[in-house]
Formats: sequence, structure tokens, C-alpha cells
Amino acid sequence: MEKIILPKGTRDIGKPEIFIWYHVENVVRQEAAHYHYIELRTPLFEHTELFARGVGEQTDIVQKEMYTFLDKGGRSITLRPEGTAPVMRSYLEQNLHIHNPRMKYFYMGPMFRYERPQTGRMRQFHQFGFEAIGFQSPASDAEVILLADRIYQKIGLKNVRLEINSLGCKNCKPLYLEALKKYLRNEATQFCKNCSNRIETNPLRVLDCKNESCQNILHNENFPIIQDFLCEQCLTHQSQLIHILESTQIHPIINPYLVRGLDYYIKTTFEMKTEELGAQNAIGGGGRYDNLSDVLGVKGVPGVGFAAGMERIILLLQKQISSKEFFQKPFVYLSPLDQQGEAILLQLSIVLDEKSIPFYLDFSDKSLKYHFKNAQRMEAHFIIIAGENEYQTKTYTLKNLLTGEQKAVSQETLIGDLLEAYQNVKNT
Ligand SMILES: [Zn+2]
Ligand SMILES: [Zn+2]
Repeated sequence: MEKIILPKGTRDIGKPEIFIWYHVENVVRQEAAHYHYIELRTPLFEHTELFARGVGEQTDIVQKEMYTFLDKGGRSITLRPEGTAPVMRSYLEQNLHIHNPRMKYFYMGPMFRYERPQTGRMRQFHQFGFEAIGFQSPASDAEVILLADRIYQKIGLKNVRLEINSLGCKNCKPLYLEALKKYLRNEATQFCKNCSNRIETNPLRVLDCKNESCQNILHNENFPIIQDFLCEQCLTHQSQLIHILESTQIHPIINPYLVRGLDYYIKTTFEMKTEELGAQNAIGGGGRYDNLSDVLGVKGVPGVGFAAGMERIILLLQKQISSKEFFQKPFVYLSPLDQQGEAILLQLSIVLDEKSIPFYLDFSDKSLKYHFKNAQRMEAHFIIIAGENEYQTKTYTLKNLLTGEQKAVSQETLIGDLLEAYQNVKNT
């Protein structure tokens, strides 16, 4: 029979890359705890209607990229393509807008989009995100951006820049959309097919087109930029946000072409970008979605959030930092020479576990030569050898594989000696 292989657009994540994932996940959880954003684990699948309304019928995600199927009960089910709509669904379903309107959430896990796979873009991919629901103040936008910035810094990413824009509100955004459509219609014949289809239905998405000739038409002195259309309230919101960010040493760049092509995104929008991943230059982004609750059935719940693609962050980390830095902690290779040795070392494993010293116990071969070779291959830091002889004399061999230092230690001092040696390695 033929072997079974992975579905296209998925991958196994294991050694050594998995240690980088642990690092990123640990930082995200730690920062979420510091800022008191509490994790919400929503299901991996939802009613299709949630994303059709909550992401938007006109988006690429809903039109082309969703994993949608009928379950055995005939319901239309979709694997979640993003995290914000499920969080808002949960919030509204529990009537928190009435009982406890101010909530701060975080989430982390797999998302699914049927896209053409390429480096940093998978069909099953992973995101973490933060949502602050119930807050109007630009300081809430600033907190979400600051939190993202803190996370990138603690993860160890370098050369990440923050771009922001405002999409206006229900008063000023329509005026801009009219001016934008007017401009786009004039140039309609020159745009790519995707863009010319979007001019009437979703003109903001045209600004996102990666096509160079489309970008050339947009980067023109006659192009209407949204900053010129913002109302007093939106301008104030933006300038307060920038003021707060500057006070925390974050220096955003205003990019009038930065958009989210959904109706209910208003005011703040932002992206974190890098020059080091080619076309996949956004490693996180978000914005204010004060009208999202409206399409999910409850009017006027403000919210602002941020989401980051973990695959791209990990790719960037692999470029910037030697992956050795994320490797497993030093560990002890336990090498039994016979049955007696196996019993002794299994007992010892309990003590090591109590002391939080990682170890690896190998039962496959009894020869010393095999164990030394295997311990070196696995990059163990220490090896302890035990067998019948050691059991009789109550003396064991402890060797530091990095320095080559080897000594015979008595049963009484074994743990003390090992602990000391282990702490020394851990601290260097
Ligand atoms: Zn406005
Ligand atoms: Zn285009």
C-alpha cells in the first residue's frame, strides 16, 4: 500500500522548530496574564452564518477561502478562518454587553483558509490575538498596540515597524468611499480584473492589491487620501492615539493606503511589518470594529483588537536568531547497562522529576558505546551510568558531556552533585 501523506497546505511541527513555538506561546501567555487579557477558547468550527456576516460577504475569505461543509444534520458549518467574529459571538451570546460590557480577551490556535500555499501561508495556520470589547477611548487602541509591541520585543523580533491609518466613522467614511469610487471609476480600465470587480462592491480592497500596476495608479498625486476626509471626532481619536503611543516610545508611521476592507472597521487600523519576509510583509495587525456587533445582532458595542500570524513570526525568528537559543533545556542522559541499572535509573528519574531536571532514559541497548554515541547525538549535557556493578558498590559515574569532566559519585551525593552541575550549565 502507498504511504499516506499530509493534505496540501498543512504541516507537522516538531523538533527543533517546536521549541520556537513554545517560546512564542509562552511569551504570549505571559503578556496576556500581565495585561489581564483572559483566554477564550472558541470552537474550531462555527455556523457559516457567523463568518458570512462577521467577516463580510464581499471579502476574499468568505467568497473563496472558507472550509465550509454540511454536517450530518444538514447544517452549514465552517472551520474558523479568523478569531474576532467567534469572540464577539461568544460575548453577545452571553449578553455581556448588558451584564459586564468591558471585557479583555486573548486567543491562540489554528485557523483555516483555502489559499494557495506558499512560505508563511498555510491552509491550516495559527494566530494569536487580543480583543478589548466595550472601550471607546483611543487609549484602548493604544493598549492593544502596546501589548503587541511588548510581545514582539519579548519574543526577540527586530526591525518591526508599526503603520497606522484611520478609516473614518459612519459620518465621514461614506464621503471618502464616494470620492474613492469616483477616482477608481476614472481609472477602471487600467486595474487588474480583481480590482475592477471590487470598485463598486468593496473599493477599499483595491488599495490592498499587490499588483504593481494597480499600485502605480493609486500612488498618484490626485489620489484621494482618507486623512483629508476625516471628521473632527476621527481626527481627534487619531491624534490622541498617536500622542499616547509616542509617550510609550512607539512611533507609528501614518500610511493612508492601509485598510481593512470590511464595513464595520472604523477609525484605527494598524499593521506590524517587516522587510525580511518578501511579499508576506505583515506579521500582525488589527483595528477598531465598533460596528461588528451590529451585523451580529446587537447595536453599538465598541471593540478593538489585534491578531498575529504565528507562522510568519516563527519564520522571522528563524532568520534573526540562531534556533539553538530556543532548544530544550540541558538534560541528563540516563544510561543503564543491565536490568539492575534500569531499575536504579527509573527510581532516580522520580528524584530528577521532583527537582525539575529533564532526563532521557534509554532501554534499547546495554552497551556503553551505544549510550555515549546516542547521548552525544541527542546533545545531552550529562550522562549517568548504572548497572549491577554500580548497584553493588553504590557508586555511579557522572559525566559532563560538554566539558568531558567525569567523576565517580556515591549514591548519597549523586543528587547534590548533579543539581550543582545542572545549575552551573543552566546559568551559562
Ligand atoms: Zn469620522
Ligand atoms: Zn489590482
